[in-house]
Amino acid sequence: MKTVLLVYLPFCTPASPPYSLTYLYSFLKNNCDAKIKVLDLNLEFHKLKFPEFQEYFKDPSKWKDYDKKTNEYNQLTRKVYSENNRKVVNGEKPEFFDVLLKNIREEKPDIVGFSIVYSSQAFYAHALMKELKEVTKIVGGPSVNDKIIALADKFLKNEIEFLDFIKEEKTDHEKLNFDTFPDFNIYDLKEYFTPKPVIPLKTSSTCYYQKCTFCAHYAKVPYVEYKIPLIEKTIINSGQKYFFLIDDMTHITRLLKLAEMMKPLNIQWACQLRPTKEYTYEILKKLKESGLTFIMWGVESGSNRILNLMKKGTNTNYVEKVLEDSKKAGIQNITYIMFGFPTETKEEFLETIDLLKRNGKNIDLVSIAVFGLQKGTPVYTAPLDFGIKKINEEERIILEPKISYELENGLTQAEAVKLKKKYNNTINKINKHPRLMNFFREHTFFSIKNSGLKQ
Ligand code: SF4
Repeated sequence: MKTVLLVYLPFCTPASPPYSLTYLYSFLKNNCDAKIKVLDLNLEFHKLKFPEFQEYFKDPSKWKDYDKKTNEYNQLTRKVYSENNRKVVNGEKPEFFDVLLKNIREEKPDIVGFSIVYSSQAFYAHALMKELKEVTKIVGGPSVNDKIIALADKFLKNEIEFLDFIKEEKTDHEKLNFDTFPDFNIYDLKEYFTPKPVIPLKTSSTCYYQKCTFCAHYAKVPYVEYKIPLIEKTIINSGQKYFFLIDDMTHITRLLKLAEMMKPLNIQWACQLRPTKEYTYEILKKLKESGLTFIMWGVESGSNRILNLMKKGTNTNYVEKVLEDSKKAGIQNITYIMFGFPTETKEEFLETIDLLKRNGKNIDLVSIAVFGLQKGTPVYTAPLDFGIKKINEEERIILEPKISYELENGLTQAEAVKLKKKYNNTINKINKHPRLMNFFREHTFFSIKNSGLKQ
């Protein structure tokens, strides 16, 4: 019998177990007789390197200095990640390489599947794949690139291709058992860097909206909704209380059905939404009653011209009303803001600051990003429509080429970063949660109730 080991790699935040790998584990286990195992090496790395932070983040009674401590963690992890990535680029072994390699070899796998969800995981994958000569190496995941594929024996796009590869035959899809729900009990959940386990839930394959011009999340992925009874089984089987819907976006009808299923389960959950007009007080109240604790709203900008250019399908009137109603319903609001969208002027940047200030009492945390150009997005494919006159690509050893761009008008990326810094204090005054909770969104579940942090 073959042994298949699925591996999740450093570096990403060790706040919760990986969703896709867990689903893959359960699907393969349901559909073949190979021995399937999973290793979260990202968690193992962080446990070895940052044990004092693991202890700190697990105990909210210590969170009085959360911003200071998280800032320390953030600075340290950035340094550690980039030093280790540089080592891989220079052909050296990254930290704890021998320990993590031993963890893999101890499982005696015939096949090792590497899941590359974030590009930051490509470096460690590169190092491990070069060393593991005795096993068959499979790669997959949204951030896989040609350089990683070149080191692997096979690149597989989905769970069915993986199954066919293990069984060495084309499976009859009619006979497959798709009633798979990810079983999170395969991990030691109390080891993650949160006070209580927070379980990631995916309820559909991608975003149903698929229109935002800066977004690459939905590229090439058809929209499929997962069966609600299986999502319910995932929740019940986990035995946990906190759930984070990692879907980029959920349709309102679907969200209400999910809420109906979750209400009797007495759990707390969070999700990401677009602030559109159908999110009325009545709807939000229903969602709150089902355990919805906080929402991350894709607000993005306080300028209607920029929102139109982004094709966000919202406007500032809807945004303000939705934030107000959501707060009134007892839900906490986290607002995603994107500065420096191509052609954004300083005046439009200030419109966003004004929107945040005007609605400060309804916002719990502001999460800020500066626009970066990504392949596969409408801005990348039709740059002139967005005032981009030239795109530059710089080759890199492990990652895909680095993309920069030149604008006809509007704020450059550097100018947007500078302005953002100038308004950091203004934004910080709006936050009811520690600013750096943006690095550990899962902590939002625990910040008010259990810690005595400012409210
Ligand atoms: S930004 Fe969000 S809502 Fe817009 S297309 Fe991307 S995932 Fe969908």
